[in-house]
Amino acid sequence: MKAVSNVSCPVCGCLCDDIELEIEKNVITKVKNACGMGEAKFLGYSGTHRPLKPMVRKNGKLEEVTVSEAIKKAAEILADAHYPILYGWSNTSCEATRIGMELTEEVGGVIDNTSTVCHGPSVLSIQDIGFPTCTLGQVRHRADLVIYWGCNPWSAHPRHIERYTNFTEGRFRSSEYNHYLAGLSSYRAEQRLKRASKLAGEIGQAVIPEEPELKRCEPVSPDLLQKDRKMIVVDVRRTRTADLADYFLQVEPNQDYELLQALRMLARNEELEVNTVAGVPVSILEDLVDVIVSSEFGVLFFGVGLTMSAGKLRNIDAALSLTRDLNAYTKFVIMPMRGHYNVTGANIVSTWQSGYPYAVEFAHGYPRYNPGETSVTDILSRGENDASLIIASDPAAHFPKSLVENLVKNPLIVIDPETNATSLLADIVFPSAVQGIEVEGTAYRMDMVPIPLKKVVTPPKGVLSDQQILQKILKEVRRIKKAKKAEEA
Ligand code: SF4
Repeated sequence: MKAVSNVSCPVCGCLCDDIELEIEKNVITKVKNACGMGEAKFLGYSGTHRPLKPMVRKNGKLEEVTVSEAIKKAAEILADAHYPILYGWSNTSCEATRIGMELTEEVGGVIDNTSTVCHGPSVLSIQDIGFPTCTLGQVRHRADLVIYWGCNPWSAHPRHIERYTNFTEGRFRSSEYNHYLAGLSSYRAEQRLKRASKLAGEIGQAVIPEEPELKRCEPVSPDLLQKDRKMIVVDVRRTRTADLADYFLQVEPNQDYELLQALRMLARNEELEVNTVAGVPVSILEDLVDVIVSSEFGVLFFGVGLTMSAGKLRNIDAALSLTRDLNAYTKFVIMPMRGHYNVTGANIVSTWQSGYPYAVEFAHGYPRYNPGETSVTDILSRGENDASLIIASDPAAHFPKSLVENLVKNPLIVIDPETNATSLLADIVFPSAVQGIEVEGTAYRMDMVPIPLKKVVTPPKGVLSDQQILQKILKEVRRIKKAKKAEEA
């Protein structure tokens, strides 16, 4: 048995790098420190149904072929295409994305990553307004106020609160975990009592107690001002994260922009000539702004609840501007809750290589960037692509039907360790090794800190990494183009 420590978890944007694994005969048998999502990935990444050989569609059926045949076919498709799209990149390493950029430039296509359907609006706003941010380490040690807006880390980033915010022991801030546990046991006792009363009620011995009516917005308790480390959740509905927050603010759906601008006005001591904003009484907002400006180090984490609701990038403009305004009174920072473990890395590598973070078009021989025109979703909705390479993502399972129809109309190449909805529709499938488990590399955490990914087991014989597959396709594309040029000359 081999024990490996300090492994990074290749699942969500937290990129927890304290995972401990036990490995027997090249199989991970035990996982420590990971959440349920991380543990499931480490223990279940290589099931019995995992494809191990490349496949090419022949007479309507996917048939196993050699790597060189699949590479040759994929390279021919990309070299012949006039406007291919290369999409995904959030669940692979920066090293693979770097080769993907080169390949896109070589074939004069469009390279886009999944931020086009999650935090693309955040990227656009950051370019407009600026980005007052910090690292998660600073949040852990210094933040006394954490706001989660339009996100639910308890379910989507399960160790975020435990590792970086309210449940962690920072150098200057103590953990709220014990306080939470005490609250939880009284909550559980209450639930037990309710269940017992219900049971007794059913057998006619007691009456079920009336459920207290849940108000949309409770008043802000003055005690919140005194608390060393506090959590506020703003969302359209009560989530598990909201349940453990010190204060939950329920906003009317699609009115986050109004609420953010109202907070900005109150923070600047301006009068609001209405009684409620986004369903929240102004008196509550005034108390909330008092709590925010009285904090010593505040942080606003925001998720797709803000980026993908009405207003989109304007919501993020308002959130960034609020953060900027608050720095007149206190230290305040903001950070997007990035979903896939290396979606931040995909943006960063794209920016290094082309100057632009996503939706980069090379059709004119130089990089062009115009989200709304050059984003893959827009290209697919207009049906302009004539070939596609999808890597480390599953658009067929997530994009609207009309876009998927346009995706499968033309030759489709998929590189992914697993079988998914897109690979089932593909013309060429490359099963690849799993990044962060079978291949080492680099990924960027949501705070833009690079984290090394470890290779802890050897991939099955003949299964190549994303980088190796892309490098081989690139080499073959170059060979085909050179041969064509020589023929024309
Ligand atoms: Fe992995 Fe995210 Fe869970 Fe951390 S929080 S262990 S990165 S899935």
